[in-house]
Amino acid sequence: MKVQCVPSSVGASNNHPILATYLINDVVAIDAGSLGLMSPLSAQRQVKHVFLSHSHLDHVATLPVFIDNAYVPGPDCPDVYAHPTTFDSLRRDFFNDRVWPDMIRLSGEESPFLRLLDLTEEHPVEVAGLRVTPISLKHVVPTYGFLIEEIATKTAVLFVSDTSPCERIWEIANQCEGLKAVFLEASFPNSFRWLADKAAHLTPALFEEEVKKLKRDVPVYAIHIKIAFADQIVSELNAINLPNLRFSAPGETLTFE
Ligand SMILES: [Zn+2]
Ligand SMILES: [Zn+2]
Repeated sequence: MKVQCVPSSVGASNNHPILATYLINDVVAIDAGSLGLMSPLSAQRQVKHVFLSHSHLDHVATLPVFIDNAYVPGPDCPDVYAHPTTFDSLRRDFFNDRVWPDMIRLSGEESPFLRLLDLTEEHPVEVAGLRVTPISLKHVVPTYGFLIEEIATKTAVLFVSDTSPCERIWEIANQCEGLKAVFLEASFPNSFRWLADKAAHLTPALFEEEVKKLKRDVPVYAIHIKIAFADQIVSELNAINLPNLRFSAPGETLTFE
């Protein structure tokens, strides 16, 4: 299974993951923060399934752009999977004819732009040889983490973002035989614990507590590091001395077997 954090910008600053999109085996995207910026354009057109964790801008920002870029007249269009609350936000806040044309309504009238498919907590969806299980996290809006298993190889990775401390997703992770990696958020430095609590995110100290709940010896990639505090968060994460701690740069493709 290949995993790539899609860059948010081009040029010298593109090692900052400003917006969230993770590309799985070139055809499935987790979140659409930077999906519509992905280069080359042909790579966007390969993406047939988009799973949205929640409605916050850094996770959906370029979904309308991606839908535009991927459009081919005809019956085929990208499938977008999310919590019904996320779709409600997309309808009211994005595809409302003010911010962007209502491609959801137009998809019912003309050649479709996108198809919306509701996700139900802990009900897996099988697409492109992958089994994707949405697992509820604890954030300020309904949010799903995702367990992604490659059906043929049983190789699995887990995305845990955005969230405050949670329990259930670790129970599921600990039962997954093929788990090879975890991607876990660390949004704010320890001195901003007050903000992490209010915004339902993790600090490095909370990240450490979450990792203790994981009983599997797999690499844990720190993600969703706020740019304004990046140096501080990275040094606090490194100070935890977790042997399995990893960072991945946008554009880097990780392979798990
Ligand atoms: Zn969020
Ligand atoms: Zn976020």
